[in-house]
Amino acid sequence: MKPVNIIGGGLSGVEAALTLGCEGFKVNLFEARPEKMPEVFKTGGLCELVCSNSLGSVKPESAPGILKSELAALGSHVIEAARQSSVPGGQALCVDRAKFSAIIEDKVRGENNINLVRREVKSLSEFEPGDKVIIASGPLTTDAFFSSLSDKFSDNLYFYDAVSPIVEADSVDMTRAFWKNRYSRGADDYLNIALNKDEYFAFYRELIAARTVPPRDNEKEIFFESCMPIEELARRGEHTLRFGPMKPKGFEDPRTGKMPYAVIQLRREDNLNSAFNIVGFQTKMTFGEQARVLSVIPGLEKVKILRYGVIHKNYYMYSPGLVNFNLSLKSDPDIFIAGQLLGSEGYCEAVAGGKLAALNIIDSIKTGRRRSVLENIHYERTMIGSLIKYLTSSAVARKKFVPMNSNFGLVDTKSYPKDTFHQISNEQISILADMLKKY
Ligand SMILES: Cc1cc2nc3c(=O)[nH]c(=O)nc-3n(C[C@H](O)[C@H](O)[C@H](O)COP(=O)(O)OP(=O)(O)OC[C@H]3O[C@@H](n4cnc5c(N)ncnc54)[C@H](O)[C@@H]3O)c2cc1C
Repeated sequence: MKPVNIIGGGLSGVEAALTLGCEGFKVNLFEARPEKMPEVFKTGGLCELVCSNSLGSVKPESAPGILKSELAALGSHVIEAARQSSVPGGQALCVDRAKFSAIIEDKVRGENNINLVRREVKSLSEFEPGDKVIIASGPLTTDAFFSSLSDKFSDNLYFYDAVSPIVEADSVDMTRAFWKNRYSRGADDYLNIALNKDEYFAFYRELIAARTVPPRDNEKEIFFESCMPIEELARRGEHTLRFGPMKPKGFEDPRTGKMPYAVIQLRREDNLNSAFNIVGFQTKMTFGEQARVLSVIPGLEKVKILRYGVIHKNYYMYSPGLVNFNLSLKSDPDIFIAGQLLGSEGYCEAVAGGKLAALNIIDSIKTGRRRSVLENIHYERTMIGSLIKYLTSSAVARKKFVPMNSNFGLVDTKSYPKDTFHQISNEQISILADMLKKY
């Protein structure tokens, strides 16, 4: 049998490659980096996390927590690597991004069925008709490849996404910071800086006046709500940040014993506590302005930025019109789409797409049928099934279709209430996992 070709060694592509490889299928895994590297990426490593080092909540009853449990039950290699490289993150699965990528590289290199090809794929015409291909090149798909897909995708969609800065731990004045989790839940994993009203407004004024990077080619800037640059969020109103990334609820200012006016949270980047990610501070301020504006914050006066925030265009497609429930293209059943290009949003959602694309290919090879393995269970009782159903058959019009993450809005919560959904999903995924083991 010819190898399955996977374009992109990111979260979805690696999950797909390891799923296929471990089941004995040959895979060519194409990764454009380090030769071709958009500026958001910093390394040539597989599964580089471009922004936050958090894979989101692990709370068992939360939507992202349920998705993670489902992926783990289906034997996700990427979630396993995340657990092996985790750093304390309260209720979230946070990773040391360098260690995470290194573990993934080891897994891929250790799998004899995977041929890792370090080059950019420029067009699908590099493959023969009938070859199985998974397009997992992600939101930062190279321009050449993306434009070659225009005959398949037509009139492509995009939005802009911003990245938060990472700062050197030694440059934070620890006398102004304190370790605590919101509402004192769990271990004290986050470093926090409490601000009073004057301190908040001093920062706020500098933030909304800061110079930002202009849009590329005068293009309309469309932002994804949950990755909105902090300065854009701030412009919505002077208190917006206090109900968002700078929410003070659940904290006491150690200086006063009262709830502060606002709080800034710093999340560990590694277990050595050598660097912190500033939570929710994704930005498109110019580099010079980032250092200047952050230094207005008490405790960050001498801040040293290790990785600056940047803004980047994200590509995705209108999957409801183009992709079948088994993630193959309606126009070509041998070509599958996974990851953010599919219109999903979030690290774990990308992993989910990669896992399912691979399982569906395995299923089609073994049974000769073109369907989704999810059709073997009541998939609407799972988070992964509800997400894929939305992505491939949502009634949302093309112009209003925006990337979607796991959430209870995708679930029929009248029939399957939120508080017990994790148990319902667990039953269904266990059935699927057992079935897959018998292949
Ligand atoms: C700037 C930015 C910030 C984000 N921040 C977050 C966040 O904080 N939290 C979150 O949950 N999600 C975030 N996302 C969204 C999304 O979850 C991630 O982008 C996720 O990594 C998507 O997974 P993927 O597999 O689709 O793509 P990726 O993980 O990006 O993997 C795609 C891979 O394909 C390679 N590639 C691209 N083109 C080609 C080609 N032509 N040939 C060969 N290889 C190619 C790329 O180099 C890359 O390694 C962010 C996205 C962006 C762009």
